[in-house]
Amino acid sequence: MSAIELRKDWDTYFMDIAYMVSTRSRCPRRHVGAVLVQGKKLLGTAYNGAPMGVADCSEEGCMISEEYELVVTDGQEEMVKKQRCIRTIHAEQNLLLFTDRIDREGSSVYVTDEPCWTCANMLANSGVTEIVFHRSYPKDTSKVKNMMQQKGISFRKLDNYQPPRETMMTVSN
Ligand SMILES: [Zn+2]
Ligand SMILES: [Zn+2]
Repeated sequence: MSAIELRKDWDTYFMDIAYMVSTRSRCPRRHVGAVLVQGKKLLGTAYNGAPMGVADCSEEGCMISEEYELVVTDGQEEMVKKQRCIRTIHAEQNLLLFTDRIDREGSSVYVTDEPCWTCANMLANSGVTEIVFHRSYPKDTSKVKNMMQQKGISFRKLDNYQPPRETMMTVSN
C-alpha cells in the first residue's frame, strides 16, 4: 500500500477520535464519545459522565432507571422492559456544555452512537449542521431522522467503519 492509501479519510479520522474519547467514560454500561469539528478543525471533545466533582458510576455504581419501551421486530410490536443508566450526562450534551455557540455554527458532530431523542433535539438547536454517527440506536431513530430532515441537518451513519481495536471495551447491556 502506498502512503496515500494508508492515509485515513476525514470521517474515519474524526470517528476514531470520538472512539478514543469514549474510553474516558466511567459508566460500565455505555461508552459514548463525541467531537465537534469546524471545517477540518477539532474544537471540542466529550464523553458521557457524571457532573464534575460528583461520584461517578465506577465509584457508586450505575443509577438504573427501568422503563417499558415499544420494540418492533419484523413488524411485530412488543413492550420490553429496558434498563438505562441515568447518572451520566450524555456525551452530546457535555459537548454542548463545553463548546461555544459561535464555534458550533455550521459545524459537524462525530459521535460514536446515534443520538437519543433528547440529545438530537438539543443538537438540532445548537448551530450544528451535520451529525455523523456509527452505532445505531433504534429506539429513537425514526423521530430523530424526521426532525433532522425538517431542520435540514445532514444525519449520516458511517457504514464500513471499524473503530480502533483498543477503544472497543466490553460493556454490559
Ligand atoms: Zn452508569
Ligand atoms: Zn443522548
